[in-house]
Amino acid sequence: MTDMSEPLLSVDDLKKYFPVKGGILKRTTGHVKAVDGVSFDINSGDTLALIGESGSGKSTVARTIIGLHETTDGTIRFDGEDITNPSDEQLTHLRSRVQMVFQDPTSSLNPRRTVGKSLAVPLKARGVPSSEIRDRVSELLVRVELNDEYWNKYPHELSGGQKQRINIARALAVQPDLLLLDEPTSALDVSVQAKIIALLEDLQEEFGLTYLFITHDLSLVRNFADETAVMYLGEIQEHGSTEEVFHRPRHPYSRALLSAIPVTSAEEEAYKPRHEPLRGEIPSPRDVPTGCRFHTRCPYATDDCTTAEPDFTAIASGPHVRCHIYDDAYRDIFDEIPDVAVVGATDDETDEITQMER
Ligand code: SF4
Repeated sequence: MTDMSEPLLSVDDLKKYFPVKGGILKRTTGHVKAVDGVSFDINSGDTLALIGESGSGKSTVARTIIGLHETTDGTIRFDGEDITNPSDEQLTHLRSRVQMVFQDPTSSLNPRRTVGKSLAVPLKARGVPSSEIRDRVSELLVRVELNDEYWNKYPHELSGGQKQRINIARALAVQPDLLLLDEPTSALDVSVQAKIIALLEDLQEEFGLTYLFITHDLSLVRNFADETAVMYLGEIQEHGSTEEVFHRPRHPYSRALLSAIPVTSAEEEAYKPRHEPLRGEIPSPRDVPTGCRFHTRCPYATDDCTTAEPDFTAIASGPHVRCHIYDDAYRDIFDEIPDVAVVGATDDETDEITQMER
């Protein structure tokens, strides 16, 4: 039974380093710091969106939680139990409560199995009697807005959206509490993406599911996630309620990401940060910049940013931000920089602030 007084999932200072081997003897010559001190909680029934560019470490977080990667350091607790580097027994139990939906719906399905057989496998593993399998598979198909006509179809006969619905149905078959959604819509057409998100919302409401939603597509997050964490080079740079992060992004990286997404309404236009686009490429996680790891791309970077690593500071209205602009010790250095997006500013003020940002 889930204890509602504590988070369903709690990740504390999680690190996942991959060794880099070199030379004839294949000795370890360094490490790729894919995840480097990530912490967050997700309460039961909530959705946390983990966003960032490709290479930020988002997917590695999910794979480490579910035991596909060994944890280098830190702890992962699920429903109060320490599941860091789980034993085989823990893993078996975990798979019945935590499921993952992967980015590529095609490679997630066995091409030689029909839809009916693919869905029957997790049901049998859960001990559902053979006599009930057919009905349960039909129920799952209905839950993901398909029907019995799909029973005998093979994956190659399905569209990308239909395959992803089957993957979601397969995850639901074990009646999980937590779904790790790793870019579940990024391989799909834009029109299909919205339908999959709507389906996930319906399923969450019906089953009280908890989601860790990993995406590089910020436009999907705004109306879907309760909280948003912005990852860059293995670290969370900003974490707060989705409303706070989207309406008042503090970290220069959040602002750059959010300024790049298309707006669909006058309200979104009003809240869109006025900011120059993100410059350059994300550095290699094998060679993380010193100081603030975003300094090589940050328009506000000073010499201090190249040497001093910013703390993950809680600011008054709730979000945590990893930037010297929000560190009292440095505040005087950045005095001239506005500390929020130009929400609600008049035209004159907006021009003035935009000039100052440059
Ligand atoms: Fe930019 Fe410096 Fe803040 Fe890093 S600490 S985001 S380099 S201003």
